[in-house]
Amino acid sequence: DRVAVRTALLSVSDKAGIVDLARALAEKGVRLLSTGGTHKALSDAGLAVTDVSEVTGFPEIMDGRVKTLHPAVHGGLLAIRDDAEHVEAMKAHGIGAIDLAIINLYPFEEVRAKGGDYPTTVENIDIGGPAMIRASAKNHAYVTVVTDPADYPALLEELADGSTAYAFRQRLAAKAYARTAAYDAAISNWFAEALDIAMPRHRVLGGVLKEEMRYGENPHQKAGFYVTGENRPGVATATLLQGKQLSYNNINDTDAAFELVAEFLPENGPACAIIKHANPCGVATGTTLKDAYARALACDPVSAFGGIIALNSTLDGETAEEIVKLFTEVIIAPDADEAARAIIAGKPNLRLLVTGALPDPRVPGLSAKTVSGGLLVQSRDNGMVEDLELKVVTKRAPTAQELVDMKFAFKVAKHVKSNAVVYAKDGQTAGIGAGQMSRVDSARIAGLKAEEAAKAMGLAEPLTRGSAVASEAFLPFADGLLSAIAAGATAVIQPGGSMRDAEVIAAADEAGVAMVFTGMRHFRH
Ligand code: 5GP
Repeated sequence: DRVAVRTALLSVSDKAGIVDLARALAEKGVRLLSTGGTHKALSDAGLAVTDVSEVTGFPEIMDGRVKTLHPAVHGGLLAIRDDAEHVEAMKAHGIGAIDLAIINLYPFEEVRAKGGDYPTTVENIDIGGPAMIRASAKNHAYVTVVTDPADYPALLEELADGSTAYAFRQRLAAKAYARTAAYDAAISNWFAEALDIAMPRHRVLGGVLKEEMRYGENPHQKAGFYVTGENRPGVATATLLQGKQLSYNNINDTDAAFELVAEFLPENGPACAIIKHANPCGVATGTTLKDAYARALACDPVSAFGGIIALNSTLDGETAEEIVKLFTEVIIAPDADEAARAIIAGKPNLRLLVTGALPDPRVPGLSAKTVSGGLLVQSRDNGMVEDLELKVVTKRAPTAQELVDMKFAFKVAKHVKSNAVVYAKDGQTAGIGAGQMSRVDSARIAGLKAEEAAKAMGLAEPLTRGSAVASEAFLPFADGLLSAIAAGATAVIQPGGSMRDAEVIAAADEAGVAMVFTGMRHFRH
């Protein structure tokens, strides 16, 4: 099943490694064909290479839109070598077999990620490249197709005797179709973004493998990180300034942390979120970033150990100094100044990621999860409490301070696994109850954690005293409310809409508590 490689077609946008590869192929006696820019790179390096326009008898036209879209190329890639009719057609039309295709595509994804203008992005949609990749991969019984420069060394190793094995060609064919599928998905999603189509039915999910992790959520699971090319600052596009590669769980948690902290716009002051297992264990704003970190930490200093820290503004030296006192896995921030970088460098295992900017919480996008045999896709939860019309439902209206605390608590609750109950006061979470199967349990746990935190921090009373409490979905019974009141909450924010709203409102009125309905739910499962 080995097929000798006699003729190779090289047509690459990313020219890294192409000269060395071509030279090694030439040394093996492989005839080289190439398109304009690639041809120039190879002949400039002194290699004997035939321009594909000599093969087609047709010049490259229309700014390269049509270079290889010709029967002489596609016949050479698609011909079944031992089919009499195919061989006859090759002879009749003077078509030579092409055994190896080295192709990588116009950098559509990079141009899109950089926010290229409309015509530039359109011009970076490669037409002939994917056509050749698909033709070669279909004919993998005879043709070897390489779409990723990372595979050049493996190709040369395989070609030790001048031929390739079926299994090798088959593996590369599978990779080739993954590449063209991801490429077209990126194009389709760019259109959807340009047209502001939020509806998942117009979208295709696809991505390019950015890195393979050592393992997945658990050590016996395999994992990879795929980037979609979405133009959104975050963990997928961040620069790792120091520390080892992020694990699957790190990436998941870091994303949760950064999306949460990005809800706090920097013009309203510094903010910090500390995340464990995709749930916040403390979130706070502060007069300085250091203050925001200290206040986030105070909510649950025990859980914060080994956590992920997200910041909404540039990490500075005095904040870095505080952070390194506790074991932390990852820090993510828009940037880090010189002093901060120097301090973090003293903890070589601590990963420091910078993104250049914060993601816009209002921008539409997609989120997805797998189910057996399918994918569940939805538009991102981009609802913001600032944009909602809050309805006061109790006799007592919230004070100005309670209103601020309520909004803060509801913002955080959006990023807590359901059922979520969040207490907040003065721009600081006071207690967080996450992921319980009953809402009253989440309320109780949040109250308990606040008491423990008060003990750990040596406070006279838990931060929940005089706080506002948020529930990310409606309170179905009065019990959750009563538990929150017992913990010291004086104001409640929740979507409303339960059959028993009247019962819950009556309980609030009886306790003299102020309550508002948001009309928007933030389930997060
Ligand atoms: P070069 O730098 O060699 O001139 O161009 C290489 C790029 O052209 C590769 O990314 C390849 O996928 C792309 N390409 C090859 N043939 C065609 C074609 O017929 N039309 C278009 N639009 N792109 C092509």
